Amino acid sequence: MTDFAATKARFHLPRGLIYLDGNSLGPLPLAAMARAERVMRDEWGDMLIRAWNQAFWMEQPRRIGDRIARLIGAPPGTVVAGDTLSIKVYQSLAAGLSLRPERKIVLSDSGNFPTDLYMADGLLRSLDRGLTLKVVAPEKVEESISDDVAVMMLTHVDYRSGRAHDMARLTERAHAAGVIALWDLAHSAGAMPVELAEVGADFAVGCTYKYLNGGPGAPAFIYARPDHISTTWPALSGWLGHEAPFAFDPAYRPSPGIDRLRVGTPPVVQMAILEAALDVWDEVDIKDVRARSIALSQRFIREVEARCPIWTLASPRDPEARGSQVSFAFEHGYATMQALISRGLIGDFRAPDIMRFGFTPLYIDEADVIAAADIIEGVIAEKLWERTEFQKRATVT
Ligand SMILES: *Cc1c(COP(=O)(O)O)cnc(C)c1O
Repeated sequence: MTDFAATKARFHLPRGLIYLDGNSLGPLPLAAMARAERVMRDEWGDMLIRAWNQAFWMEQPRRIGDRIARLIGAPPGTVVAGDTLSIKVYQSLAAGLSLRPERKIVLSDSGNFPTDLYMADGLLRSLDRGLTLKVVAPEKVEESISDDVAVMMLTHVDYRSGRAHDMARLTERAHAAGVIALWDLAHSAGAMPVELAEVGADFAVGCTYKYLNGGPGAPAFIYARPDHISTTWPALSGWLGHEAPFAFDPAYRPSPGIDRLRVGTPPVVQMAILEAALDVWDEVDIKDVRARSIALSQRFIREVEARCPIWTLASPRDPEARGSQVSFAFEHGYATMQALISRGLIGDFRAPDIMRFGFTPLYIDEADVIAAADIIEGVIAEKLWERTEFQKRATVT
């Protein structure tokens, strides 16, 4: 059984603050500070360029990929870290399309995160071969799978509502129609069990600054099913995806392994921070995380609905149909969230009216949930959203 008091002690959690926004930016792991200092002073500072070899900077993206692989049910050698999630979406979609050159449709849903749709749109435009991006309602995905679809590109857990797709079922349906299944795990890696190999997903991508606590700007990751690794030509054929980067051959030859999905020089300091952040998973069972996240979120829904009937649950009520966040809709959601933050409860807001609260058992416990409900009750009772100071929109919501 995972010791969640021990995992909580591994994070820097500012006093007097309840942080229900780990679904957007995980908090600082204490070990990350020491690691960042070491990589800067001892490695960059003292070893200088020798650190690429002596501190194994060059292997970092693979090493991290293998550790993330464990959390998403992928075998070693199938995941590599780097770049941003938007870039990884582009690469994986391009790889998927190259496997179905005759087909003309990319299928996605309206619950997908905009950057995924934007990247797909940009890729299809530059390919200029009559491909279209078909965006349907999330509940219409299954019936929209047909044998003219090349790639089904979905985000497993909806960033606004927390609604989770049935990955196994949709992947199976996709494969039955010869469709490549690409999954974005931004809101599921580190939040709930994911079994990529078992469901047979073709490609997957995700970020590490949400539930994996890698820090702002932490690198993303990409997974390719073993049989696709050597058969797809990388769309972003950077030198670090080359079979022999230091041969400096003018002709590109992709690495035979997952390294072919690397692009350029990795962000070493950020990767070192991520590596330290991943240590906590060595003592955590993701099934325990899931069970506890369900218990916490169910408790939160009960408390909030009993105290604030003017909020409407915007997440599935069935915990099995949600990821690790709970959203409520409220017309004054933005100002209300600002008021909650001023009282020490941090969640976030997504237009037009969604207030999101993330449940991350590594550092959130039941006492936090009760204290959060107390703050919400006070803000609602005092109608704090009416104050002008809370209505001014910041750049990041
Ligand atoms: C958070 C998130 C992103 C962010 O992409 P970046 O390139 O890291 O900014 C993309 N897609 C989904 C589904 C997300 O939840």
